[in-house]
Amino acid sequence: MKETSAATTMTPLVDRIAGPLLSPEEPLLFEKSQPGRVGYSLPPLKTPRVTFEQAFGSELAREAIVGFPEVSENEVVRHFVRLSQKNYSIDTGFYPLGSCTMKYNPKINEEIAKISELSSLHPLWPERFLQPAFSIQVELQKLLSSVTGLPGFTLQPNAGAHGEYVGIKIMHAYHAAKGNKKTKVIVPDSAHGTNPATCTMIGYEIVPVKTGPKGYVEVEEVKKVIDSEVAGIMMTNPNTCGLFEQNIVEIAKLIHSVDGIFYMDGANFNAIVGIVKPSDLGVDIMHINLHKTFSTPHGGGGPGAGPVGVREDLIPYLPVPRVEKRGERYVVVREEAQSIGRVTGYLGNFSIHIRALTYMLSLGRERDGTDTYLKRMSTAAVLNANYIRERLKKHYHIPYNDVCMHEVVLSDEWQQAGGIKTLNIAKRLMDYGYHPMTVYFPLIIHGAMMIEPTESETKETLDLFCDSMIAIAEECKQTPEVVLNAPTRVNRERVDELRAQKQPKLRWG
Ligand SMILES: *Cc1c(COP(=O)(O)O)cnc(C)c1O
Repeated sequence: MKETSAATTMTPLVDRIAGPLLSPEEPLLFEKSQPGRVGYSLPPLKTPRVTFEQAFGSELAREAIVGFPEVSENEVVRHFVRLSQKNYSIDTGFYPLGSCTMKYNPKINEEIAKISELSSLHPLWPERFLQPAFSIQVELQKLLSSVTGLPGFTLQPNAGAHGEYVGIKIMHAYHAAKGNKKTKVIVPDSAHGTNPATCTMIGYEIVPVKTGPKGYVEVEEVKKVIDSEVAGIMMTNPNTCGLFEQNIVEIAKLIHSVDGIFYMDGANFNAIVGIVKPSDLGVDIMHINLHKTFSTPHGGGGPGAGPVGVREDLIPYLPVPRVEKRGERYVVVREEAQSIGRVTGYLGNFSIHIRALTYMLSLGRERDGTDTYLKRMSTAAVLNANYIRERLKKHYHIPYNDVCMHEVVLSDEWQQAGGIKTLNIAKRLMDYGYHPMTVYFPLIIHGAMMIEPTESETKETLDLFCDSMIAIAEECKQTPEVVLNAPTRVNRERVDELRAQKQPKLRWG
């Protein structure tokens, strides 16, 4: 602490120590550093001391480690525990973030993932030692195949967007192998931003189609833009308005009529898994976000897994290396003439694969062993979203007010009169103790507020959330200044988001 000036020594003790102990500004470990302080001390050695230089040679040794924080063990522990307590997390509260499927991650997932026989494996060990790990991956692939109807899967992609990249690359490889002259991909205007980004990365031109008046992609709109140069379509189903695409089968037929590939963005698969098999809809390639549909922790950039499934004739294009069961043994297929190649280190985010498989199996299987109880999960997710829609529909404008899937999208249209916008409502929700919902997405809904409860919340939690949303709608009418000035009950007042981007402050002090 730089507390030597007369002014600070006059400050009452309580104000001086309350800061470092309880301040929302957690100091960096570098600032807490005291020369010579260590995390632990051991009794003096009885054997002769061997220095690093003697053991490894002086060319590898550093003379000093510059700027390394010197702190005690309890300072380190308290620092990180305090930081962890600043996080809003699914383990501390309801997280209505639409499109992100922030469902509760059951602790059994963590228990299984940390079993030392699994967590201490190394992917470079000989294959004979990795058989149990391979069996987990193949079992997961089999389950994903059974719920999607797509026979081939890769577990390599580490995120949804990464899966899209793999899927569209396979689309590209398929057309190249057939000598098809294809230049563009159809992407509805309700798509997640990653869809057009992916197509652009592969080198395709984007052909947008407008969402129809009820929130669905219309066959007529696709007909207007389809021609022989269309490589395929990327459709999110359920779409980002939270609706099941009504015309998907017809659209798939249309795409197939020009030898196009139907790519389904299955990030929102959690609404339909166990109920609809995408292959029955005409889907040729899809990715699934394990970190959304099948729990597993996510947020803040990871970790994740975005496996990609493909129809039979596209299997040779899947990335290698890939694990397969041959007889009683699992083998790693490393070469495949038509494969798009490797897209990640080793075999993907294995610990996420373990968690997703654990989640699926822990739901239980039907008596005949053919199916897991995933259907119950998706039905509950849809029921919860519709419950919220029904409770809020008189208080907030719902642009596409139809039976929804896993999420419901409101708008700020009825609150705008008092100068209130979606952002204000989201900030006010923080005062009520919630992480805000997803805002301003999808782009086609002005002032969108996208709410996804997932199946993992109780009716009491949903009711309290709806009560809070209704209370905020009342405040918008009665005391709009309260909403306009929110948040006022959290650690931070409203941050200047633009300034944080233009002048990032990455250092304390
Ligand atoms: C979340 C999401 C993605 C991207 O997934 P990441 O794992 O964040 O890369 C893509 N499409 C849709 C519809 C999504 O909801």
